Amino acid sequence: MTGTDASTYVGIVTAAVACVLYVAAYRSFVYLLRYPRNWAAPSLPETLATGALAVFVVALVSLSADGIDMPSLVVSSVFITALFIIIAAPAFAFQPASRPVEFLASHGDYAGLWLLGPALIAGLAIPNIKLQAVMVTAMAIEGLWFARQRLFGQVGQLYPLNERDLSVLKTQAKDDLKAFQRRHHIRELVLSNGAVSWRGCEKSTAPCPFNLYVNRLGLNTAPCCREHMKDLSHYVAGCLSKMGAVHWLEGGSLLGAIRENGGLLDWEDDVDISVLLTADLTWEKLTETLVQEGARDGYYVDIFKKSGLISISFDRPRRWFFRSERNRMRGEIRADIAVYRQVVSYGETVLERHCKKGAMPATEGGGFGVPMDIVLPTKTTPLLGKDIACPGKPDEYLEILYGNFREIEYTYLDPAAAKVRAKIDADNDPASV
Ligand SMILES: [Zn+2]
Repeated sequence: MTGTDASTYVGIVTAAVACVLYVAAYRSFVYLLRYPRNWAAPSLPETLATGALAVFVVALVSLSADGIDMPSLVVSSVFITALFIIIAAPAFAFQPASRPVEFLASHGDYAGLWLLGPALIAGLAIPNIKLQAVMVTAMAIEGLWFARQRLFGQVGQLYPLNERDLSVLKTQAKDDLKAFQRRHHIRELVLSNGAVSWRGCEKSTAPCPFNLYVNRLGLNTAPCCREHMKDLSHYVAGCLSKMGAVHWLEGGSLLGAIRENGGLLDWEDDVDISVLLTADLTWEKLTETLVQEGARDGYYVDIFKKSGLISISFDRPRRWFFRSERNRMRGEIRADIAVYRQVVSYGETVLERHCKKGAMPATEGGGFGVPMDIVLPTKTTPLLGKDIACPGKPDEYLEILYGNFREIEYTYLDPAAAKVRAKIDADNDPASV
């Protein structure tokens, strides 16, 4: 083997290693995004590990036997930083974000591909096979993401919008549905000859960008998503019953079941169910069983041990590489399970959870809790056509969470959307006529 052959060979091998490292950094990064999209701060060790992987990629691309290749160092760091900002934008736009982040988020399906031109120019200008290989890998991943979102995501059935949904949509759109659709990239809205319908999501397609439509734009939950939430709530409650777990409807789902007579809140964005951990039903047993059942029945289970939360998503678990890419989407149909433990706090037996819910008071141990006798023994209440377990004293439970829960409170993240919505309901309230 000549010297040139050997160095070419080494170059190809290092380029392949750089590609593998990039894929690892990308996966680790999209996995990390589950925190902001679940309203939580990213874990420090995971953030450092992801950062280290990205630094390894840049180092491998720009270091050689001759020293540091400055143009490659600058281009690879700028390229990876820009791409990761684009990838993270939808997760950060779960909360109202700055205009540039909102802009990137609303183009999140394909914004990564905007780097294709700069990558081509840099790849041609800098003859570094490692840099070229990393950029080709990154752009291939972006291309696949775009294809999965766009080409395979538009096959759902058409749902009619009921009068209530339509009135909310029209009011939020200030009666110009076309402009509203264009401005917010609402691909599911189908407008033809004056008729308005909704191209529904399905288990096999990407879900409607739930967070954007419901929490930000103040629309009613889409009919497809409502239907899937019904299936999901019945499925999760069924799993918990089968396990013999003491569980109850929580938060907005309990509020819907009680105040809306067995329905969902119009703007419901998840299903909330709580579970009591006991000596027999440990955290490990609960999560393992749910993961197993979910894998078998086509549900995705994400576990947040530190906050005592488990989120179960309606759509099918993807293959390993694509699994965490769900964190690039703007919302999904999900059941959030929070676990409680029985403790004594200030001399009273309470059921305690780790994360705050509504106005639930703090416990002596640093969690949040409700008196045990308000929850146990549980009873059942109808939710979307099926009886589901709820606290034994649901009104008192809801009072602890929301105060006067009979009064409607709009929980949208966008105050303007909430104001418009409050006006629609006030106008339609027969009591106000
Ligand atoms: Zn949907």
